[in-house]
Amino acid sequence: MSPSSSQGSRAPTPEPQPRADPPSRDAVNQMILGLGKSYVSAQRIADRDDRAPDESTALLRQHAAVDRPAPGKARIAVWAVLTTVFAVSLVFLLGFPQLFPDALAPLFGKLPRDPTRAALVILDNAPVIDGHIDLPILLRMLYANNVSAVDLTKELPGHVDIPRLRQGKVGGFFWSVYVNCADPATEGEDFLASTWRVRDTLEQIDVARLTIEKYPDVFQYALGSGDIRDAISKGKIASLLGVEGGHQLGNSIAVLRTYHALGVRYVTLTHTCHNAFADSCGMTPGKIPLHGGLSPLGLRLIDEMNRLGVLVDLSHTSDDTARQALKHSKAPVIWSHSSARAVYDVPRNVPDDVLALVGTGEGQTDAVVMVNFAPFFVAAPGNASVYTVADHVEHIAKIAGKKHVGLGSDYDGIEETPVGLEDVSKYPALFAELYKRGWDRYELAGLAGANLLRVFEGAEKVSLELQAAEPVFDVYHKRSDMPLP
Ligand SMILES: [Zn+2]
Repeated sequence: MSPSSSQGSRAPTPEPQPRADPPSRDAVNQMILGLGKSYVSAQRIADRDDRAPDESTALLRQHAAVDRPAPGKARIAVWAVLTTVFAVSLVFLLGFPQLFPDALAPLFGKLPRDPTRAALVILDNAPVIDGHIDLPILLRMLYANNVSAVDLTKELPGHVDIPRLRQGKVGGFFWSVYVNCADPATEGEDFLASTWRVRDTLEQIDVARLTIEKYPDVFQYALGSGDIRDAISKGKIASLLGVEGGHQLGNSIAVLRTYHALGVRYVTLTHTCHNAFADSCGMTPGKIPLHGGLSPLGLRLIDEMNRLGVLVDLSHTSDDTARQALKHSKAPVIWSHSSARAVYDVPRNVPDDVLALVGTGEGQTDAVVMVNFAPFFVAAPGNASVYTVADHVEHIAKIAGKKHVGLGSDYDGIEETPVGLEDVSKYPALFAELYKRGWDRYELAGLAGANLLRVFEGAEKVSLELQAAEPVFDVYHKRSDMPLP
């Protein structure tokens, strides 16, 4: 409760009040992040400082004018001793900060020295927003999407449930509404044979939304950056939807608009297959390109994503697709779950020359590369750990900058996990490791979610600017079921 509110209505002769302290570094940090809790802190600071300076000084003068009896000698001596003890303690503690009990450090606006404690303090203020979690496909495979059979309050097979999300300080994540690529052997390679991918994607959107709605005290459906802040300020987990591949659009830009209307806020341009819009990098080894990056329809898809405010996700794409998309997109882009190729050389990871195109300088595009935890993308077999994942984070930060790295674990979409990052409860271990390596609270808050929020806001701004533009009506040129323009 703030000093002013504790007094209720204004007393006739109030005690003099000290001027409000300047905001602590923590409060400033939270304001910089702009996360939900920061609004609370900023308001508290404003509440404490809402008296006019004249009022304060007048009260001080009034108080000083009151006659008081002269203090006794014994009282003066006690005060002198107490003041001396206090002053000596202060000098001693400020000179030797290592003497502060570590657990009390946050009370003094400092981070604990213990990396795990420090990580928890940072994540309390700036919780994790993960770019890619595959819980919906797990619910499809384990429960045939029957949400009533799912109990997320208990330990679920896989890597995600509510107790572990809470333990891991998760403030939001993209629920991947993934379905797999069409089988070229039975469904052809020219994307014209009918598939069930759009139906199945709608089912995945349905299971994600019903699961979010089943736990209204825990999850909050989020359609934009404002919703993420709002959910976090209420202690809830912001829940967003991401579609993992253009094949799930049935090669139709009209389907993109429909998914957007249902709440989808990113589309990965490809999964492991090429589609009518863009080339995929495949898995290992990589795929032979089909379009040489983006097709003309792919360029138009990005135009429409920019207009709608659907984030362009470049995970799974070929390097040429990524380069061309970075150049073409008017809005900042993401890699929802990709690591660094220079650290571990697989096609799914982002090469340095592409990372160099990320930024806010000349010829660069703002983006966030959200590091994937999948062991087969992180390190040689048997070597993936919290330390090697930290190496990927640091490498992306070295090339693209610390403001351009985030986390996209791929939990529930991978069978194995790195040692030390076994499930969603373990994010703090990664933050502790990076804290040990010298990352400060601002940089770690950026990694946790603030970098993604900045990129998301950038895309929302572009979308607002493009609202007057016509929707994109281009139709895939190989289709014969409707007249081509
Ligand atoms: Zn993926």
